[in-house]
Amino acid sequence: MLLIVGLDGASHDLCERWIEQGHLPNLARIKREGKLLPLKSTIPSVSPVAWSSFMTGTNPGEHGVFGFFVPERPGPYEAPTRFRPVNSRDCRGKRFWEKMNEAGLSTGIVGVPVTYPVWPVQGHIVAGLLAPHLSTPGATYPAELAAEITAEVGPYRTVPRGIYAPGGEEALLRELHTCLELRGRLARYLLQNHRCDVHLFILYETDVAQHKMWRFMDSSHPRYDRSTAERWRNAIRDVYAHADSIVGELMRQLRDRDTLVVVSDHGSGPLHGTVHLNSWLWKKGYLVSKGGWKEWVQRQNAKHKMVQACTRIARQLGLLERISIDQENRRLLASGFLTAGSINWERTEAYSLGFEGAIYTVGERHAEITREIAEGLEGLQEPGSDQPLVESVHGAQDLYEGRLVEYAPSLILELTGGNYSASQKMFAPQLVTTPTDSGAHSSTGILGAWGPGAMVVGEGRSFNIQAVSGLLLAMVQVDAGRQKSAG
Ligand SMILES: [Zn+2]
Repeated sequence: MLLIVGLDGASHDLCERWIEQGHLPNLARIKREGKLLPLKSTIPSVSPVAWSSFMTGTNPGEHGVFGFFVPERPGPYEAPTRFRPVNSRDCRGKRFWEKMNEAGLSTGIVGVPVTYPVWPVQGHIVAGLLAPHLSTPGATYPAELAAEITAEVGPYRTVPRGIYAPGGEEALLRELHTCLELRGRLARYLLQNHRCDVHLFILYETDVAQHKMWRFMDSSHPRYDRSTAERWRNAIRDVYAHADSIVGELMRQLRDRDTLVVVSDHGSGPLHGTVHLNSWLWKKGYLVSKGGWKEWVQRQNAKHKMVQACTRIARQLGLLERISIDQENRRLLASGFLTAGSINWERTEAYSLGFEGAIYTVGERHAEITREIAEGLEGLQEPGSDQPLVESVHGAQDLYEGRLVEYAPSLILELTGGNYSASQKMFAPQLVTTPTDSGAHSSTGILGAWGPGAMVVGEGRSFNIQAVSGLLLAMVQVDAGRQKSAG
């Protein structure tokens, strides 16, 4: 059997540090007896893009997933009719487990982002990030698996529930550890009752903990506060340690011929600010709103505050426990943020979908506009300093290759030090504001291998996440062309 455990956002530097200090005994064992290497993420290093490259073995220009959101449009450089979360149909090309299925191997796939809606496989799939509730049609294959999981494992959720606001640390950590507990239980249940030749389980909580809790463990963070830090300093480390204990438990179930792989989609680092790219595009005249009362409301920023007030009340009433974070986020996105319907597309030449800091251009002058905007972005500075805010501006053609490059954003940004994320907001008070999150992504994740298959991972090499699916296929002796069984 090949067992793959994904640790979303597990950072190579943090793993090394905590292995050294003895907090991650199972990753330490993988490092000692197998391999544990840094793994380069995609640009941008966000989960949907990176995990899509992981599962297809291709770059974004080939698989077509460029971020969390998709502009639905008739063709490249045309005006979108709506923005929606990315789903499994947007990711093109064969996933590695489909190639394994073709070679006669069964596969159990759990918690991979961008696998909703699921499709038939030889084995089972439980969708991950960007899937709604487990009980939603399309969240599991076979469909009956959802009810079986709830009955046998407990209230398993695709993503942690509730949304975090400062002060809510205790509730957040309780939820993250509950989710990890459920993921561990589900893994054990599936290994015993639905055993396949290849199993993949992704633990998502490492990423959430880093986004929300980074400032408590980093005394150089602008929002570090000694009194709260004392209490929560080890929160992220404890989530890593919990994930490590799940890895260890699964490891103990392996037999001599089995191989274990651990992999993350990106690393993590401090988040200092949110850059409102749409606000900048709007001020420069590239992005034009339809105006009217909606614009007025957004400009007062009132709607966003109203949503926050409603969230506070809902939390007090205990309603949030029943809403998944995903739905909640969607509601937030739909409120104070950019919607395709609020844009005057006749006069708009560029827009951003936030998160990863990518800019799409619209219309015949797209090439010229792209150059102009790239130049303008280079002049932006970090607040309170004379350092550039944008570290690099990539054209899609420079980064990606493949049949879907034209659908990529025209510009893909790397914000300085990875310390900034982008928003979709059109009427922000300043170019850069302070977010609730204090952690962001970095480009270096991990790749670990233990057991006989580890020899496929060569000595002293470093890998890009795109290369992982080829390594996995080699571990079970499946070539893209050949049909061979794992034996
Ligand atoms: Zn991720």
